[in-house]
Amino acid sequence: YITLADFDPELAEAVRHEERRQEDHAELIASENYASPLVMAIQSSVFTNKYAEGYPGKRYYSGCEHVDTAERLAIERARALFNCDYANVQPHSGAQANAAVFLALTNPGDTVMGMNLAQGGHLTHGNPSNFSGRHYRIVPYGLDPETGLIDYDEMERIALEARPKMLIGGFSAYSRHKDWARMRAIADKVGAIFWVDMAHVAGLVAAGEYPDPLPHAHVVTSTTHKTLRGPRGGIILAKGQDEDFCKKLNSAVFPGIQGGPLMHVIAAKAVAFREALQPEFRAYQRQVLSNARAMAAVIQSRGYRIVSNGTDNHLILIDLSSLPYTGKDADAALSDAYITTNKNSVPNDPRSPFVTSGLRIGTPAVTTRGLGVAECEQLAGWLCDVLDALTSGEQALAKVRRRVREHVVALCRRYPVY
Ligand code: PLP
Repeated sequence: YITLADFDPELAEAVRHEERRQEDHAELIASENYASPLVMAIQSSVFTNKYAEGYPGKRYYSGCEHVDTAERLAIERARALFNCDYANVQPHSGAQANAAVFLALTNPGDTVMGMNLAQGGHLTHGNPSNFSGRHYRIVPYGLDPETGLIDYDEMERIALEARPKMLIGGFSAYSRHKDWARMRAIADKVGAIFWVDMAHVAGLVAAGEYPDPLPHAHVVTSTTHKTLRGPRGGIILAKGQDEDFCKKLNSAVFPGIQGGPLMHVIAAKAVAFREALQPEFRAYQRQVLSNARAMAAVIQSRGYRIVSNGTDNHLILIDLSSLPYTGKDADAALSDAYITTNKNSVPNDPRSPFVTSGLRIGTPAVTTRGLGVAECEQLAGWLCDVLDALTSGEQALAKVRRRVREHVVALCRRYPVY
């Protein structure tokens, strides 16, 4: 067999369909992006065959001299990109990086404060369905219900009462800047470790377009595939920590929670970090922000409510709670119109996380394929057309979905991804 189509036609067809889907749909899922052809190519290199438990220069297997080079490059570039002195590039994913922080710096049963999932946090920040929520005493913080902004005074009050061992900053659905200095001051007041999970905004941070948590946090984790636009994976970073602290983090990743690192993915991280060190990356991140602001303005001008009344980053959370349909309905209707978003809880959402009253959208992926402000305004207009039609009856909705789908495909074909 020479090609996948010969050997495994079913799977080859799935890939072909996925390629078509990615080309023809407007990708507005805030956590997604398109990795570059180089990032994709190196993931299918021979590095995938190599076992390399341990760290560069200290492996449990022989034959690691070349994967050592790849990992050293990834570490050096991560440190240069984020201006820090410690980087672990081995976590298989963002959730793994977070598990390693818990394992390194806390003990089961400790009190930990994280942002409520329903108000913008992540599962691994203490949700009861996640290991973090099962093994720790989680005290959540959240938003001011009036403004949709983080209530730091309330956070401080809760911290003083609960005296957490660790305070988590970072989010999956918060569209504003976070005040890292204020959070560090709160952590210091109660003697807590301050950990920031910057997964969503890492690319913006790398480009200097979002407040940098590294000068404030004891430890920072991230995914590498969201705004950072690399392969799927995780990283752990720290600045100014002693050797003992960094050793604890390394041991928590391996042998703590992982076995052999994915060397082909680590090599792809090295490529992505080099891409992010180029001047074009900063221009890209600025465009991500301009596009998000432009979309938010259109959505608001069409009468839809945005949590926190706007955005300072790549994402927008639309609050549909006053409307007669759910986030799930909106997500499905938009998906039929080839606009991919995700349903998302809004603060004090009366509906379950599987149904929700909100919609999260983001601009990293469409910006990568070349859309600018004018195209994003158009796209936001079509998104609102579909939302409007959700209250106009099934026939009218079907008509709007069809029309929008045609516009979206035509726009996407003007901006091919690959
Ligand atoms: N942390 C945050 C803030 C996230 O938003 C996500 C994923 O969406 C993760 C961690 C988990 O990353 P992964 O899906 O790579 O495990």
